[in-house]
Amino acid sequence: MIDNWRDASIDLAYFISAVLLIISLNQLGSPKTARVGNQLAAGGLVLAIVATFFNRDIGGGDDWVILLGIAVGGAGGYVMAQRVQMTAMPQMIAIFNGMGGVTSALIAVSEFLGTSDLGRGTVVSIALGCIIGSIALTGSLVAFAKLQGLMPSRTTLPGNRQLITAGLLGGMALLGAITVILQDGAMAQTVLILTFLLALAAGVLLVMPIGGADMPVVIAILNAFSGVAAVLSGFVVDNQLMIIGGTLVGASGVFLSLLMAKAMNRSISNVLFGAFGAAPSAGGTGADGGESLPVREVTPDDAAVSLAYADRVIVVPGYGLAVAQAQHSVQELASLLQERGVDVRYAIHPVAGRMPGHMNVLLAEANVPYDDLYEMERINGDFARTDVVLVIGANDVTNPAARDDPNSPIYGMPVLRVDEAERVIVLKRGMSTGFAGVENALFHNPKTSMLFGDAKQSIGKLIAEVRAA
Ligand code: NDP
Repeated sequence: MIDNWRDASIDLAYFISAVLLIISLNQLGSPKTARVGNQLAAGGLVLAIVATFFNRDIGGGDDWVILLGIAVGGAGGYVMAQRVQMTAMPQMIAIFNGMGGVTSALIAVSEFLGTSDLGRGTVVSIALGCIIGSIALTGSLVAFAKLQGLMPSRTTLPGNRQLITAGLLGGMALLGAITVILQDGAMAQTVLILTFLLALAAGVLLVMPIGGADMPVVIAILNAFSGVAAVLSGFVVDNQLMIIGGTLVGASGVFLSLLMAKAMNRSISNVLFGAFGAAPSAGGTGADGGESLPVREVTPDDAAVSLAYADRVIVVPGYGLAVAQAQHSVQELASLLQERGVDVRYAIHPVAGRMPGHMNVLLAEANVPYDDLYEMERINGDFARTDVVLVIGANDVTNPAARDDPNSPIYGMPVLRVDEAERVIVLKRGMSTGFAGVENALFHNPKTSMLFGDAKQSIGKLIAEVRAA
């Protein structure tokens, strides 16, 4: 009787958690409700953890192991979330993706090693969960290293990339199939562990050569992998909440991957197996190619006069805005200009910054009205009718080589057509390249003037000069 009550209460708690997760996703769709969405998701997960604690099928009497896991994971997550800089948020998300993936893979492996008489369907889920979760782990660790600058954005592998990838995927599929055929026993366990190790290596080798403008797509794909791995592990341990939660993560990851791939004008297979990872071909605008080309510098007062007396200004924020934490300053500058009757809008490139929606999050934090933000397709036609474009710490997303130079590694990626405006003012510290490591001809365009310095300090100077103008 008590057991029945307990099981029914756990099922009810899982159901409420699932509903909270679904509502939270809906709320996360808009900056206005995103905070509540986050809180609902956190509440749902706390409820799920508490309910799981009462599940007698889990833990096998070793409740202290669960408590230890909660203490270590909870403390680690709390400290990381408190300390993380806003600019390091994408790296943290990469780590979380990896942790989700490896957790699912380990559940699958431990279930296989610790349980006998598993059905063939369950073994299929175990093999797939182990492969996908392991790739999510090591792939995410490589993504973390690239975002953190510990590894070059693009790492060229020796040998034929397609052949290596095909060999790895074929090897994993073969070992996974052998595990399923053997179904249980010592030999099957050894083969599954080999599959696990091969999948860990595959994650590294798959993501290592991918870089530059393809990274956002890869991160979204790894996100989808961690969700799918959770679904498969949910099947293995017969946990509905894992299946629902994993489906939500997997489905949103798939959507995000497709949206990012569309934004970059690339197919998913092209990102994963294509030649972006290859070194820029001869004739491409390499990182060192433009140092000697002339650039025109501008002083803050000259730039401020252009802005203050313009009719139409478009602000293009990029990763440097996040580094400088200049979102509040840019909002102040835009408000000042708007008070003077200047039409100020923001052009948001889908992969600006280092995570999907990065610029929207930053500008929402500074209370920039959502109506002032324009997606690339909506604003690209307006640059030609714009007096001044203020590029703040953006680089790759403005690079005209993506349109004009077939030899450029980013050729084909849709970019903001800032060079069509009458005047372009670029705020950055020096002549460094962006994430893709590609020289930007925009900086050498006669229409472009560079205001060198940290974006926040430069905007501070512009604010003072606009007030004085
Ligand atoms: P970029 O990375 O192309 O360029 C950022 C620029 O900001 C740099 O050239 C740097 O130049 C400048 N900068 C850095 N710090 C400051 C500062 N304190 N003040 C002023 N400027 C600064 O940024 P974009 O946003 O244009 O492009 C994003 C890139 O990141 C794309 O290649 C995209 O594919 C990739 N990416 C995007 C992800 C996403 O999901 N959005 C995920 C992973 C990668 P300098 O050092 O000279 O100041």
